Amino acid sequence: MLNSLISRRRLIATGSLASVGVALSRFAFGQTAQTGAKPTLSVVPAYLGVSPQTLPPLPYAENALEPTISARTVGIHYGKHHRAYFDNLHKLLAGTPLEQASLEQIIVQSHDQPTLADVFNNAAQAWNHNFYWNSLSPAVTAPSAKLQAAIERKFGSIEALSKALVATSASQFGSGWGWLVVDRGELAVVKTGNAETPFTADLAPLLTVDVWEHAYYLDYQNRRPDYLVATVSRHLNWAFASANFERV
Ligand code: MN
Repeated sequence: MLNSLISRRRLIATGSLASVGVALSRFAFGQTAQTGAKPTLSVVPAYLGVSPQTLPPLPYAENALEPTISARTVGIHYGKHHRAYFDNLHKLLAGTPLEQASLEQIIVQSHDQPTLADVFNNAAQAWNHNFYWNSLSPAVTAPSAKLQAAIERKFGSIEALSKALVATSASQFGSGWGWLVVDRGELAVVKTGNAETPFTADLAPLLTVDVWEHAYYLDYQNRRPDYLVATVSRHLNWAFASANFERV
């Protein structure tokens, strides 16, 4: 599964701000991109309805995940890092045909487009963080009966799934994300590097955990697995995952 995901992803070359403007001015939104088949939006949970222009509110108080994740970490992560992706995207899209597109459409259209790498990175990070905040819950939650059955079929138990999610996420080299996804009808645990998001590979995301250092360094320093074990065991939002599972 991991290998197949990696093989489906391609390296994104770095684009400059100047080239993005030129590329977007020639960019006809809604058309198929120049090379290769573009991923569809069929696996994207559209529940968030996130505008690329506005940072959505945090779904709980900054201190709601304490002591697992401190208010200081959430405050900086949401208020500085997440906000910056929206601010950067806003500047990159100003006056371009993508300005009115949805965040999901921007991600799909800019994915694997070397001249739109800055657009993709900021849009995907904006989306991934929306998904991350919603993937966590201050309260204990449980999967729906349908998702529970799928978890037991694939992993044996929720504990075994959690262990796989921690191991896969911990093993991401450098910045990135760990995910529970649906891949062609099957649950799977995958990881993505930097801003990459599973739905560009037609994997439907159910939950994510952020493994960029800014997600845990103030609280856990280099102990990424400790952050993951605590977060996955205490704060995964299974109600959110279940709702996403219903839409696949
Ligand atoms: Mn982050």
